[in-house]
Amino acid sequence: MPNMSLKKVKMPEQEADVRNKNFKEVALGYTLEQAQEEATRCLNCRHKPCMNGCPVGVPIPEFIQHVAQGDIEAAYLTIKRENALPAICGRVCPQENQCEGKCVRAIKGEAVGIGRLERFVADYHMALNKEETVEIEKNHHKVAIVGSGPAGITCAGELAKRGYDVTVFEALHETGGVLVYGIPEFRLPKALVAKEVDNVKKLGVHVETNVIVGRSITIDELKDEGYEAIFVGSGAGLPRFMGIPGENLNGVYAANEFLTRVNLMKAYQFPNHPTPVKIGEKVAVIGGGNVAMDAARTAKRLGAKEVYIVYRRGEEELPARKEEIHHAKEEGIIFKLLNNPIAIHGEDGWVKSMECVEMTLGEPDASGRRRPVEKEGSEFLLEVGTVIEAIGQSPNPLIRQTTPGLETQKWGGIIVEEETMATSKDGVYAGGDVVTGAATVILAMGAGKNAAKAIDEALSKK
Ligand code: FAD
Ligand code: SF4
Repeated sequence: MPNMSLKKVKMPEQEADVRNKNFKEVALGYTLEQAQEEATRCLNCRHKPCMNGCPVGVPIPEFIQHVAQGDIEAAYLTIKRENALPAICGRVCPQENQCEGKCVRAIKGEAVGIGRLERFVADYHMALNKEETVEIEKNHHKVAIVGSGPAGITCAGELAKRGYDVTVFEALHETGGVLVYGIPEFRLPKALVAKEVDNVKKLGVHVETNVIVGRSITIDELKDEGYEAIFVGSGAGLPRFMGIPGENLNGVYAANEFLTRVNLMKAYQFPNHPTPVKIGEKVAVIGGGNVAMDAARTAKRLGAKEVYIVYRRGEEELPARKEEIHHAKEEGIIFKLLNNPIAIHGEDGWVKSMECVEMTLGEPDASGRRRPVEKEGSEFLLEVGTVIEAIGQSPNPLIRQTTPGLETQKWGGIIVEEETMATSKDGVYAGGDVVTGAATVILAMGAGKNAAKAIDEALSKK
């Protein structure tokens, strides 16, 4: 008999006023008993609607049945057939809009906790510390991957499994892309990212860090070196700015830089690590997406007394995951909704306050969302010592500027054929944020997987 409880089994987590002072993971994960109890909520539906919501096609009901029966290794192998990074996806995928959004149990009650179960299975397997060995017959075709984020790593793993000689070129000194430099430790522990990336390396993928494609070597030079296909998964790491007065003051950060300083350069351990980060007693984060929530929660953990999310639309329009908004509120982040910054003021070169104006929501705009309109005469000053802008990112122009024949959108995204991820340049494929603009881990992985399939089809004919 299925478990007909309308609610998911609760996942234990650190108390809000404890966790907002440390960088340890917020959610603690299910025990075996809790996972089995949650797994029995799955109805093993014949048409598997949840799978339609998964961009990489994880056999969801199949792995959940294994969990219900207590065969966690079988569950792990089932997930791994389609998803190389389950511990990561189980933690950061927006399941509410994907698999769980399509789950029949969500019609009356809460969806099955697919993400929580995926996380449990991956963690359980990792704790066993088993050597993963795979026998691969090499086919001696050479493929280069630009960028080691979820798109690049997935494409690399899929091709290595098929026998390709794969080299990943990564600009930074660590692999993982946004998973290591953007998403904070308290949501996604870096040791766990390293382990999942290591599993891909064990397939024979070679990684060269500190190589900036477009500067250290160009795409055409990679072709000259014998790479028969190149996949570009260089992400969207170039921050946008508001364009308001005062943005050049000390104490104003792009969220990207702020999070990179804290995550990758370990600024929270300054002076034991050499990179500092300036945190005022009061901090304003501009924006309402996942990046803004991460920046605000990080600022709080670094000791800010008051942290504001300043967002020009209302609660319903906040683009961040519901769970992240809920966690941010629990941790004491103050939401200043329907407020828009118009200037940043300083003293002696440092941020002193941010001038904002109140907004109302007017008629829907081209995106279908109601357009924010300024309320006349409603300007006010918010005293803050640090301002973090999290209003979006676009692809860095370096690759398009150094790759003749590579067509891009006006905003910089590389143009690809939808199914094959082939670009306008022969032998060059692209996927992930560099094509879509800032999106999600699982969509980047799906793109990497599709490109690997297309590259294999093209090269196996040679
Ligand atoms: P990236 O992860 O950006 O990786 C690109 C890699 O390419 C980087 O390592 C970069 O250094 C490298 N690179 C760039 N240029 C070059 C070059 N010229 N030469 C060599 N290497 C290069 N998504 C979710 O699904 N859930 C979340 O909760 C979530 N939270 C997020 C929080 C933050 C703070 C941020 C910034 C993003 C978040 N996202 C989230 C979005 C998600 O992380 C991205 O959509 C995803 O990482 C995109 O993957 P990618 O492989 O395309 O690019
Ligand atoms: Fe199980 Fe929900 Fe998928 Fe049905 S839709 S198989 S209940 S996870």
